[in-house]
Amino acid sequence: MDHELIKAEVLERFLRYVRVGTTSDRKSDLTPSTAGQWELARMLEQELRALGLTDVELDDHCYLIARLPASSGMEKAPVIGLMAHVDTAADVSGHEVQPQIIEHYDGKPIAVGSYTLDPREYPQLTEYVGDTIVTTDGTTLLGGDDKAGIAEIMTAVRWLTDHPEVPHGELEIIFTPDEETGRGMDRFPKEKLRSRACYTFDGGAEGRIEAECFNAWRCDIAFTGSVIHLGDARGKLVNAVSMAAAFMNMIPRTESPEATDGYYGYYCPLEIRGNLEHAELEVYLRDHDRSEIERRIEALSAFARAVEAAFPGGSVEVSQHKQYLNMYEVIQRDPQVMEKLRDAMTAAGYTPQMHAIRGGTDGSRLTEMGIPTPNLSAGEFNMHSRLEWVPVGALARITEVAVKLVLAWAE
Ligand SMILES: [Zn+2]
Repeated sequence: MDHELIKAEVLERFLRYVRVGTTSDRKSDLTPSTAGQWELARMLEQELRALGLTDVELDDHCYLIARLPASSGMEKAPVIGLMAHVDTAADVSGHEVQPQIIEHYDGKPIAVGSYTLDPREYPQLTEYVGDTIVTTDGTTLLGGDDKAGIAEIMTAVRWLTDHPEVPHGELEIIFTPDEETGRGMDRFPKEKLRSRACYTFDGGAEGRIEAECFNAWRCDIAFTGSVIHLGDARGKLVNAVSMAAAFMNMIPRTESPEATDGYYGYYCPLEIRGNLEHAELEVYLRDHDRSEIERRIEALSAFARAVEAAFPGGSVEVSQHKQYLNMYEVIQRDPQVMEKLRDAMTAAGYTPQMHAIRGGTDGSRLTEMGIPTPNLSAGEFNMHSRLEWVPVGALARITEVAVKLVLAWAE
């Protein structure tokens, strides 16, 4: 593969895709949660058709699935899928993204609008001296999560369609909405997939493979107090706001996202709202070990009983909702899924590093539905922020991994 040509193409695609505002909305119950995601999905639908893929279908919920048929004689090879998400995180605006392109990066601090991307603070920049770096202009995020993944997959597909002499099995291309809301797979038409295994291209520094993720639960805690005129409140008012605050104080700060890393899980109070009579608290629970989630759910129930005891007449209810499961259990049952990925990465010049995700991906959800779907990093830094940056050399190398992965399954 011609690295410079791949680099030029993946950059051109990346810049085009990031300019489409696709911020998703966690509060919406619709799929897709925002209209902007349609624009990118339709653009990709057209491009996949133009590349000659068959069965290109964008459904009513913005799931885009397309097939590249197997080369002749390869129809029996396992079908695999490559997957990425079209939305971007809502943490920072993703509208009117104006990418800055720094060619032949000299290793010095980069001005990003009124911010500075300084290699003393972000030492990974020094590994990309001489490369082309894409940043924002400081007013938005860049959207490399996950448009880097989309650009890599699209470039890999284009390369495969241009090289019919290279044998490969059937390939499914899957682009999904709303990954960042955690609900992106809720309406996924799994029955349409034929893949034995899928691979998400999403997030993180190049060279990483992620086959373990958090188990994720959301707990909603509802506090009900008892209201009376504040002038007559002595001994009678049960204040739901105070109850919620007392509950919050029992959540151990040593088990928070800001106090943990690696395999340590956490509680994260995500949102609190309410008034004297009724208050609600939303808590995320995350852990690679399922039994630790159960322990934390029990602890939240115990905190609820303790708050009720301290606020006679008040009541506290804890409800739990599973969000996704650690994909490791399903993936390890089919060792080829990881073997092929390691082979592809090695063939592309990487020494693959295993990394446990402190989060989840659409792949975790698809794995739960029965299709093992590890993740490989799409090659980006400072995701979800104004200081997001992407080295174009990484995009090109990961594109090569995508091609080599398809070829590895044809062996
Ligand atoms: Zn992502």
